[in-house]
Formats: sequence, C-alpha cells, structure tokens
Amino acid sequence: MSTSFRIGDYLITVVDDHIGAARDAATVFPDVVPIEWDPYREIAFNSEGGYQSQWRGHLVRRADGTGPVILVDTGMGPGPYEHTGRKGELLDSLAALNVSPADIDAVVTTHCHGDHIGWNITWDGETPHATFPSAAYHVAANDLEHYSKPENSNAAFGRNVAPLQGLGVLRPVRGEVELAPGVKTLPTNGHTPGHQCVKIESGGQVGVITGDLFHNVA
Ligand SMILES: [Zn+2]
Repeated sequence: MSTSFRIGDYLITVVDDHIGAARDAATVFPDVVPIEWDPYREIAFNSEGGYQSQWRGHLVRRADGTGPVILVDTGMGPGPYEHTGRKGELLDSLAALNVSPADIDAVVTTHCHGDHIGWNITWDGETPHATFPSAAYHVAANDLEHYSKPENSNAAFGRNVAPLQGLGVLRPVRGEVELAPGVKTLPTNGHTPGHQCVKIESGGQVGVITGDLFHNVA
C-alpha cells in the first residue's frame, strides 16, 4: 500500500523501490550520540530499533487526472542487491498505481547519487534506453557539470545519467523551472553541487519534496 497526500489540486504518492537492511544508527550518523535519538525513536527506526534507509520516488500529478505526470527520483534501480537479497521494486510500485513507464511525462532528479537515479535507464546489453520513454529528464546543470568531470564521476552516473544526453531526453535545469502550474524545481545546492527540491503550490497549500536535504524524518 502506498502513501498519498494532497497539496491543493495535486496528489503526491510515494513510490517505493527498496528498503535497506537494518543497521545501527551510529554507523549511519556517527556524530549523533544515542540519547539524541530518544524523542524520535518511534518515527525514525523500525520496531526493533534498527535504522533502515528507504529508497523511493514520488509521483506528482493532479488529482483529477489532467496535466503532466511527474516522477521525482527513480530509486536504487533494478538490483538485485547483495545487502538485502532483493530487487528494486519501483516499476512494480508504479504498476500497482496503474501507472506505466510511458505515462511519465517528466522525471526530476533531485541529485545524482546512485540511490536517486537507479531506474533512469534500462540497459539492453550495451544499449541504453530511457526507462520512461515519453519523459523529459530534468537534472540540475550544476550536478551534470560536477559529475561529468573524470575526478568526480562514478559508475552510477555513467550508467544512469550520462546516457540521457545521447538519448535526447536530458533537460539540464538552471534555477527554478516550472514543471506544471504551481510545480517547480527549487535549487537547494549543498548535499551535491546541484541538489534541487520540487516545490508544489496549489489551493493555498505548499509542499516540498526534499530529496536528500534531510536523510531521516527525525
Ligand atoms: Zn544523496
């Protein structure tokens, strides 16, 4: 069951991809002393007190079914993953919402870390295809520039972002770009040089999809 909530005319739906193995929070946040977690244990940890990363995207679309379908981030990718022994489930989660890859009009990458770009590309042997064939892929120009330098590049960028250019679907983002009425990218550089959020303003309400601006609800 996926989680949805409304912001004015828009429906925001969590699209799960992968839940990581449980870890001790101290391995993920070594600078946080355990007592500082106390007020947040219930919302930040699983029932056994373990820290579990959740990789996912967010679908943004109008509740009345009109207008573009926007997918913010594409998770870890197909896998399977050694640390959990499971595959990524993003496409299954979309299918459960009756959304096919071809229904996505825009993909927004909040930033170019591997756990946010995993399903951007589907590889047929040595040939890359856009997993979402009708979508324009919005990636911040600052991240493109940074990770295109040989000293900063990594395998995930090479596989899941770099080929977008040759496929003709890449839309480098500078500053705020409107994706739909009231929905726009919001530069929040820091976590990476081009990190961006997606801001939704509708019916007097405002929401922000924060990417990795925060790593945990606590
Ligand atoms: Zn990140």
